[in-house]
Amino acid sequence: SMASPALLMRVVASAYSVAEKAATIVRNVMSAGDLGIVEKAGPNDLQTKADRLVQMSICASLARKFPKVTIIGEEELPTDDVTEDLIEDGHCEEILKKPCPAQYTGIKEEELVIWVDPLDGTKEYTEGLLDHVTVLIGIAYGGKAIAGVINQPYYNYEAGANAVLGRTIWGVLGMGAFGFQLTEAPAGKHIIVTTRSHSSALVNECITALNPDHVIRVGGAGNKIIQLIEGKASAYVFASPGCKKWDTCAPEAILHAVGGKITDICGNSFQYNKEVKHMNSAGVLATLRNYDYYASRIPNTVKESLVP
Ligand code: AMP
Ligand code: MG
Ligand code: MG
Repeated sequence: SMASPALLMRVVASAYSVAEKAATIVRNVMSAGDLGIVEKAGPNDLQTKADRLVQMSICASLARKFPKVTIIGEEELPTDDVTEDLIEDGHCEEILKKPCPAQYTGIKEEELVIWVDPLDGTKEYTEGLLDHVTVLIGIAYGGKAIAGVINQPYYNYEAGANAVLGRTIWGVLGMGAFGFQLTEAPAGKHIIVTTRSHSSALVNECITALNPDHVIRVGGAGNKIIQLIEGKASAYVFASPGCKKWDTCAPEAILHAVGGKITDICGNSFQYNKEVKHMNSAGVLATLRNYDYYASRIPNTVKESLVP
């Protein structure tokens, strides 16, 4: 008889279905029309009813199946019982059929940390920039991002009523990433993607120093990694604190699974063990190709302003 699938593949297969349920919640809250916006640190740090419901759905659903896994979500929520309609217990069969990379077959539940951003790009969600929004479920082992799921609930929303709305991208280190068409950015062009709602003098100074041909300003860390893997941008540059571990874990796993690289602005890799500080204090630098080109051109003055 077939051996039962490795834990990692069962977690990814479940995270896929949990992220699809999350996307339905994101769309339903928007169409119901009451976003229930709460300011966290300030007007550029928002939480909506969708952030709250999705976090409860993802964390409760995964915790029920994998009780010994550490799950860290962005939102601080009251520990009320989660209603049964928020629970997703399905999984993606296609993922379960794939062999687990050999180095991960022995992983135990208590060794995994799952970083959850229930809704990345909340500011843009409240402003109707709906395709900037993603749901991020990152899976870490030994402090490293090894697998991730990115759901984009409003993918295709401007393509008309016949287009299929939403998609799920997933990946595992040593296996690859799926659910999109890997595309290189235009050769010889330097297209930088960065924040649209969290700019600063330093963010702009760093971009100017890289002398880009074009700058794309969009919301969401998940969305910006999608710009890299679909060839829309050649580097994600964000010389500022603000991004957290739940913003980068799933994107990192997917980017690394296709041969890209993400670090802080100083070139340090991110750690995802459960004790780690949440804030990525020294910003983000990510590329699919030519990481060294961009890393070598970040000014020392910028690096010195950002302390990891
Ligand atoms: P952005 O590129 O501005 O969409 O930021 C990517 C992620 O980092 C989002 O989850 C933001 O909420 C978060 N982020 C970045 N800068 C800040 C900030 N100054 N305050 C709060 N969250 C931030
Ligand atoms: Mg986020
Ligand atoms: Mg969020």
